[in-house]
Amino acid sequence: MATNAVLVAVQARLMRREEVAEGTMAFHFEKPSGFTFKAGQSADVTLTDPPETDTEGNTRTFSIASPLFENELVFTTRMRDTAFKRSLKKVPLATEVKIGSATGSFTLHKNRAKPAVFLAGGIGITPFLSIVRQADHDRLPHKLYLFYSNRRPEDAAFLDTLRTLEKTNPNFRLICTMTEMSKSKKGWKGETVLIDKEMLSRHLAILQGPIYYVAGPPTMVAAIRQTLVGAGVEEDDIRAEEFAGY
Ligand SMILES: Cc1cc2nc3c(=O)[nH]c(=O)nc-3n(C[C@H](O)[C@H](O)[C@H](O)COP(=O)(O)OP(=O)(O)OC[C@H]3O[C@@H](n4cnc5c(N)ncnc54)[C@H](O)[C@@H]3O)c2cc1C
Repeated sequence: MATNAVLVAVQARLMRREEVAEGTMAFHFEKPSGFTFKAGQSADVTLTDPPETDTEGNTRTFSIASPLFENELVFTTRMRDTAFKRSLKKVPLATEVKIGSATGSFTLHKNRAKPAVFLAGGIGITPFLSIVRQADHDRLPHKLYLFYSNRRPEDAAFLDTLRTLEKTNPNFRLICTMTEMSKSKKGWKGETVLIDKEMLSRHLAILQGPIYYVAGPPTMVAAIRQTLVGAGVEEDDIRAEEFAGY
């Protein structure tokens, strides 16, 4: 279901698709000339002639997971069994979709003295991937902390990319937590608790001061917002993107 009105739409060609975590696919589109966006924004993707459709329609809102400096637009999603996603998975490469203009204010603040704390639940990683890759490319001086919560390592998209960024950008720290390791076949040495005040305090010198960005399923976003407010973070310093539909 789309939540943003499509103001201006452009056509974009599907170049490739790949599995980036269990049941999770990234779709790479050629970036239409003149398409502009800010890292962290989202866009409506519409299938114009899908092989199947249902009552939820042919449009979904997705965060743009790729940075500005690449000449592709990447959208990443959990492949749930809906007509839209089944269609996206099977349309031939070179199929054109309609992409609405980029919208949203879920973008990095300008004040470089204030750290950014990103809190991603599962597929909520998409806007942050764009932001941290672009910040690395632009050598932004902001201190960036990314807390990335998944049930298992199998579910965590882009882990390798994020770990590499931690090495190339001294201002970037990645803290991953896997909250259902009993269901995993992989090993894990990092955090395993849900993101809460104690967990944040273990990794952040002070909880009040940074700008917080939360993205993921609505229940996760609500829980984290409550945690942050309970820890004394000002409401004005919390920005949230709810991935409705999860
Ligand atoms: C700003 C923004 C950015 C997003 N970025 C991403 C992203 O990068 N990756 C990603 O996978 N998803 C993202 N989403 C969510 C995405 O738009 C889809 O809703 C989601 O992928 C589920 O799609 P679906 O086809 O699996 O299920 P759907 O068929 O869309 O819906 C599943 C269920 O959720 C309900 N539902 C759908 N939309 C809403 C809504 N707006 N409010 C209440 N209930 C609703 C439906 O009625 C249905 O019961 C984003 C959403 C927003 C608003």
